[in-house]
Amino acid sequence: MSTRTGSCLCGSIKVAIKGAPVSTNICHCTSCQKSTGAAFASLAAFRASEIIYTESEPSILKTYDDTSSESGRLVKRKFCGRCGSPVGGSREGFEEFSIVPIGILEGDKSDLKPPVELFHKSKIDWIPTLEGSQLFETLPSTP
Ligand SMILES: [Zn+2]
Ligand SMILES: [Zn+2]
Repeated sequence: MSTRTGSCLCGSIKVAIKGAPVSTNICHCTSCQKSTGAAFASLAAFRASEIIYTESEPSILKTYDDTSSESGRLVKRKFCGRCGSPVGGSREGFEEFSIVPIGILEGDKSDLKPPVELFHKSKIDWIPTLEGSQLFETLPSTP
C-alpha cells in the first residue's frame, strides 16, 4: 500500500502514514472549532504506530493538552510551532489511534469522506450536514 503524506502550512512538520484510515469523521465540537479556526473539523483516525511525524528542526512539533474538550477527556493536540497548523491529536484512553486533520493531507481524499458527524449539538446552523452521514449529538457510545 502506498504511503499517504501531509504537512503543515509552512512545511516544517511532515507526516507519513502507511495504513488505511480506521475511521473518518466531521467534528462540530467547540474545541475543534477553536483549535482549527474553522466551522468544523474534518478528521481521519489512523493507527498511531502507522504515522510518522518529522520536524525540520527539533521541538517545532508542539503539543497542547486540551482539557476543555466536550468529551470530558484530555485531547492532546499537536501543532506546528512556526505556522500554527493543527497536525494531529489523540484522545485520552485511545492513544493507539492518532487523529489527523484531513486538510493537511496531500493527494486524493475521496476515500476519506466522513460517514459520521460528531457533536452535532454544537454544529453552526448554516453548515449543512453531509448527505447520508450519521449524526451524533455528542460521541457514539462505543468508539
Ligand atoms: Zn508549519
Ligand atoms: Zn471535536
